[in-house]
Amino acid sequence: MKNEKTKDIDCREALKLISAYVDKQDGEDDRQSLEKHLNSCQHCFERVEFEKLLKNRLGGLKLDTSTMKVSPKIKRLLEDL
Ligand SMILES: [Zn+2]
Repeated sequence: MKNEKTKDIDCREALKLISAYVDKQDGEDDRQSLEKHLNSCQHCFERVEFEKLLKNRLGGLKLDTSTMKVSPKIKRLLEDL
């Protein structure tokens, strides 16, 4: 079913929305557009996972990358922080 509020966005637009999305400060329309994009774009999906993990880390949570269900690329980024 087509949702008129959900527009197709490209990776550049998605990247702009990701930090607000992770901070839960995005609007409903932006969220839906971004989630739609994430369903079809592995690159941006991983970016969101990375931002979430980064946010948790900055929040003082200790991360154990060995138990994370993330790609090796993300693990490497986290371990380099
Ligand atoms: Zn993308």
